[in-house]
Amino acid sequence: MHNRAFAELGINFRYAAFDIEPGQVREAVEAIRALGLRGVNVTIPHKVTVMDYLDEVDAEARAIGAVNTIVNDGGKLIGYNTDGRGYVRSLTEETGVDLSRQSALLLGAGGAARGVAVALLGAGLASLVITNRTREKAEQLAEHLQAIHPQASITVQPTERINEALVDATLLVQTTSIGMHPNVEASPVSKEALHERLLVSDLIYNPMDTKLLRDAKEKGAHTHQGLGMFIYQGALSFEYWTGQPAPVDAMREAVWDALRSRQQA
Ligand code: NAP
Repeated sequence: MHNRAFAELGINFRYAAFDIEPGQVREAVEAIRALGLRGVNVTIPHKVTVMDYLDEVDAEARAIGAVNTIVNDGGKLIGYNTDGRGYVRSLTEETGVDLSRQSALLLGAGGAARGVAVALLGAGLASLVITNRTREKAEQLAEHLQAIHPQASITVQPTERINEALVDATLLVQTTSIGMHPNVEASPVSKEALHERLLVSDLIYNPMDTKLLRDAKEKGAHTHQGLGMFIYQGALSFEYWTGQPAPVDAMREAVWDALRSRQQA
């Protein structure tokens, strides 16, 4: 999607993927300077460790505790995190939802949940309930978020009480790996608990229509797929590196082309 975007705007950049072993993160970061790369994306499992080797990490990435984008500013390496904001941009642009009016239920408390929750609260969400298989992780996340957003209502519910929590929710944000390929018939929520006042958003994009989203549609709820987050986190990285608005439609088309050719293979 990045190479398509560079071509679209006539920018003489190339995007390439490199496998880095966990013990080589420091050398990989030094190579960014030595090779004069304009920037990189960083993915699992290096998003946290890489922060130790950067010159600066912006406030949002620090709040999330992970970096997925590095900009090389004349040898000074600055870390950002575009995952959460990419999610919020996808959610708001694709559904038109007004976050300040939502009561959200967040399923999961892993890396993606953290990024998404920081960005949702930063974008005006005022009420958040978190539920996670490992309750301590939900409590740690809630405490962390509350410290950043003291005015927001942030609470934790045990997973056994998801159904009750859903009664008052208007936005369900699914960030666990339940329902991801190959377990495509799994869902973290029983269909009966879903209702038509809900906007159901699933971060999983493999498959794009998860069991949760299929159930939600059948219950008359609005739905939002995970692929948009992937595209917009890339679009925001592109904007950091180039200083130009990302050609999002071309990027989306490139992702669709790649997915279609993978399906045909
Ligand atoms: P992670 O840090 O490993 O967190 C996984 C989360 O899922 C934790 O809350 C974990 O609960 C929960 N979980 C996993 N298996 C479970 C099970 N069998 N029952 C109940 N809970 C379970 O992973 P992550 O990076 O946050 O990614 C989570 C999902 O988001 C993945 O499906 C990933 O593909 C998706 N994602 C999508 C995008 C996008 O661009 N759309 C970006 C990032 C991630 P515990 O704390 O109890 O272990």
